[in-house]
Amino acid sequence: MSVDTRTDTWREAQDVTGVPPELRVMPGLGPWERLSALRSRFLLRRERARITYEDSRHPEQGLPVASSQVALAFLGRLLKVRKPRVALVLATNILAAVAGLIVPRMLGDLVDQVAGGHATVADIDPIVAGVVVVVIVQSVLVLLARRASAVLGYDLLAAAREEVVDTVLRLPLGRVEQASSGDLLTRITSDVRKMSNSVRWALPQLVMSSVLVVATLVALLLNSAFLAASVAGSLVVLWLATRYYLRYAAAGYITESTTYSKINSVTTETVEGARTVEALRIGSRRIHLGDVEVDGSAQAERYTMTLRNLYFIFLDVSYNLPLVGVVLLGTLGYSQGWVTLGQITTAAIYVQGLVDPMDRLIQVFDTLQVGLAGTTRLLGVSQLPEDRVAGDDRPQGSDVEGHDLRFAYRPGVDVLHGIELDLKPGERLAIVGPSGSGKSTLGRLLAGINGPRTGEVDIGGVDVMTLPLDVLRTEVALVTQEHHVFVGTVRDNIVLARDQQLEGGAADVAVLDALRAVEALDWVERLPNGLDTVLGHGRAHLTPAQAQQIALARLMVADPHTLVLDEATSLIDPSTARHLEGSMAALLEDRTVIAIAHRLHTAHDADRIAVVIDGRIAELGSHAELMAADGEYARLWRTWRS
Ligand code: ADP
Repeated sequence: MSVDTRTDTWREAQDVTGVPPELRVMPGLGPWERLSALRSRFLLRRERARITYEDSRHPEQGLPVASSQVALAFLGRLLKVRKPRVALVLATNILAAVAGLIVPRMLGDLVDQVAGGHATVADIDPIVAGVVVVVIVQSVLVLLARRASAVLGYDLLAAAREEVVDTVLRLPLGRVEQASSGDLLTRITSDVRKMSNSVRWALPQLVMSSVLVVATLVALLLNSAFLAASVAGSLVVLWLATRYYLRYAAAGYITESTTYSKINSVTTETVEGARTVEALRIGSRRIHLGDVEVDGSAQAERYTMTLRNLYFIFLDVSYNLPLVGVVLLGTLGYSQGWVTLGQITTAAIYVQGLVDPMDRLIQVFDTLQVGLAGTTRLLGVSQLPEDRVAGDDRPQGSDVEGHDLRFAYRPGVDVLHGIELDLKPGERLAIVGPSGSGKSTLGRLLAGINGPRTGEVDIGGVDVMTLPLDVLRTEVALVTQEHHVFVGTVRDNIVLARDQQLEGGAADVAVLDALRAVEALDWVERLPNGLDTVLGHGRAHLTPAQAQQIALARLMVADPHTLVLDEATSLIDPSTARHLEGSMAALLEDRTVIAIAHRLHTAHDADRIAVVIDGRIAELGSHAELMAADGEYARLWRTWRS
């Protein structure tokens, strides 16, 4: 193996790990660097104590990690439904490998004839012509084998990606928010990339190289069992080194990925809270926190790199041993008359031919390790325990009731303390109270986003946590300040919540009605392709008010009978808010509305007002009743008015 290939292997291995360039450390290649790799064995020993497999499987925070068995079973499932493709890949690879092994045999025969001294040009010509034909046939077979392997690889990748998207979309709403967004982000970006590298490149290479290695070993035995013994020693070295490497590498790579998640979490948090960081002047503390994580990550990197360095030393030895063996055994065998010169030539070419696929196999194992670690983290996401169990009961009616609602973000610290609430269809309830009193949390429970710790929220007599998500969306919706426009057409964006129920023409009518109702039809019709205009990143640009109108139209189409508004218009500037009042009024018409109100004038118009203080409903009644009672609400109102 040339030095260049080794460098490339390194680059690949490090690219796969997704480490930013400034953190990458180039591998040691010269004698001095190899020595330093040996020296870092001490480091290895120290770090091994820090990074154990169990640690890596249970990172102290974040989403679960699946076991390797789960990841392998997942791959097995993908392969099982693609038997014809797998068979084609195997068949073409075996044929290509066998064709490749014929030429050394022919060359060996040629050597024997020449050495025997009875070869004439007429004898040699057909052999040379044969070699040319076999080389051409082999090239065609290699092309076919590579094509079949690549097609299978991409097919598997597409299937795996679909599965990932499916998993992410099915995640339990409440639980995802508890996990750090950096962790989820790392998993669906860098872990997906690792898995994709594995599936697209490593799996096909695994098949090609292992077929070639096995076929070459068989050919070696057929050529001369005596000379084939030269491979035995290096196989033992390789076996031991690989076992040692694999034992520690899996944990190392999982730990590495975990450290990237941590860096991502800290960075995302700092960026998202940039203003707070600035206001509190805690920039240097955040930087320090980032440094600590980067340092941890560098250590994890150094660990896996040291493992690889040590491994490479043994690889080099095992690659060079067989040729030495062939020469030594060949000399002995020839002198004893056990083998011919031709057999020695053939064996020498075979053992040299082994180096390339063996080396590729090693790279493949490395990438597969990284890929397996990535896949276990990806599949781990789907192991988040479900927070709802879909039942068969469907709501009869549209009254919303909450009984004994308690909720804790952290075990043992309830933020709601046994809330009782009961809404009649079409009623407007405003929830007011000091910041942090639990209003938004109550809104999320009523909308079925989070499940309460005790008690239940019933809609039409059925617990919301037993409704499948597609049913829940048509019963109750939470409207927050986030109005996301997805990449897709205007139509796609609006039928999003009902896509299974609405087909073709029905969808268009519903979308147009919704746009008209929220007063957005005019501008949508003026878009270059009307309903087919593609929105989202880098596409048609919408103003915040237009984005919100699209969100409101989406809700119109989903048509839930109950809406929970969490300060839906507070982030929008007053003129936009005024402009949207008509759109909003159209949406709220004939629906039950629970408005979490921070501005009391919106509460004033509600049928009833619930005053939430410290996770309890302190007062409940109309504006007039609460003013007459002269309690908490009256005090808030007077403060607000003054
Ligand atoms: P409000 O909407 O009245 O301002 P919230 O419902 O947002 O109040 O919060 C109620 C309490 O729960 C607060 O003490 C808040 O700090 C806490 N809390 C809210 N969201 C979370 C969360 N995701 N994780 C942990 N604690 C939270």
